Amino acid sequence: MKNGKAFPIPVRVKYACEKCPAWCCTYDEIEVTRRDVERLARHFGLDFETAEVRFTKMKQGTVHLLRHRKDKVFDSACMFLDQDKRRCTVYEARPGVCRKYPDSTRCGYYDFLTFEREQQGDEEMVAVT
Ligand code: SF4
Ligand code: SF4
Repeated sequence: MKNGKAFPIPVRVKYACEKCPAWCCTYDEIEVTRRDVERLARHFGLDFETAEVRFTKMKQGTVHLLRHRKDKVFDSACMFLDQDKRRCTVYEARPGVCRKYPDSTRCGYYDFLTFEREQQGDEEMVAVT
């Protein structure tokens, strides 16, 4: 506590994105805000309307969801996922929800993944159901 300031306490997370095929990026309804679309538009040098149409689809006429495309591992994934490297291709401009997730020391997807891998005795396996 030098200078009267508390040392930051390191947080140990119980998931490892580098061992996961970006499962969270395959979630069907990745909701984005107007600000997220603006950031993506800036990133690609597009106007808002073009980015909105190109990168999002509407749910119930009001909510913007990131568009998906067919995926090599799961049924589909966010259009911005690099399907070979399993990494985000717009990391600097990714939406707020992607920045926050999983917002905890645990990731539900990763817990399931590790459970299945332990059951199968295969550190690489990916349950796709
Ligand atoms: S599902 Fe969890 S472990 Fe996998 S990439 Fe997303 S946050 Fe990381
Ligand atoms: S924008 Fe990037 S981090 Fe967010 S879902 Fe798509 S690929 Fe994943």
